[in-house]
Amino acid sequence: MFFLYPEGKKKALTFSYDDGEIFDIKLAGILREHGMKGTFNLNSGNLADVDNARYVNKNKLDEIYEGHEIAVHGVEHLNLCGMTDQDIVLEILPDRQALEKITGKLVQGMAYAFGAYNERIMRVIQSLGIHYSRTVNENHYFDLPRDFLAWDATCHHDHDLMKWGEEFLNVPDWKELPLMYVWGHSYEFGRPDDWHIIEEFTEKMQGKDDIWYATNGEIFDYITATRRLEFGANRQMVYNPTAVKIWYKSKDGKARSIAPGETVNL
Ligand SMILES: [Zn+2]
Repeated sequence: MFFLYPEGKKKALTFSYDDGEIFDIKLAGILREHGMKGTFNLNSGNLADVDNARYVNKNKLDEIYEGHEIAVHGVEHLNLCGMTDQDIVLEILPDRQALEKITGKLVQGMAYAFGAYNERIMRVIQSLGIHYSRTVNENHYFDLPRDFLAWDATCHHDHDLMKWGEEFLNVPDWKELPLMYVWGHSYEFGRPDDWHIIEEFTEKMQGKDDIWYATNGEIFDYITATRRLEFGANRQMVYNPTAVKIWYKSKDGKARSIAPGETVNL
């Protein structure tokens, strides 16, 4: 079965930005204006109570990040490697609780502070309800992660962003579910003035019929659903047990979908 993204789209583009400095306000706006979505990884212990501090005002998260996703980055931006399991819990769980309280939404995503993680940390954060977490590694292609708790990006925005954007627009047809995933910190655009990097990229990538512009969480939910399909023994029948409509390319090359609860003959 050759999967497609929602509405039969061929590929997906997402962004992941860390630390919640006030430059996020401009970045979130630029992405929104170009019809794009990202995931913003915040340290609840650093959020400000007022405007114009170093970090965003915690009373305005809904407004600042409208249309985007908010995710965990640790209460105090600590390096989890070398910590006891208990200290990892104390750094991650209260961040999740605080962000859910402020936003009123489920927070199940994360990015590792300093990109620091290992197998043990992955197990601990999973037990705290974190479903996916970004590293600072770059796969320099458009692959989905084998394990969403070690989710590598395509590239940092300072590493040949326009070149990867061009390759992504021309990704070959045989590549299934290609994902371009860009990460960074918004302050890298603001100090010094490097906003042209993201402005040029979003201009180039906007408004494409075959691209799904999604948050990390939306991509996780969709891909996880595709992996839960149940197939008949002869692979002729497929059942969708999830709450997500799943799209695929049929034998005649057309985009088709399987509704939640539906069984389809391929
Ligand atoms: Zn960080």
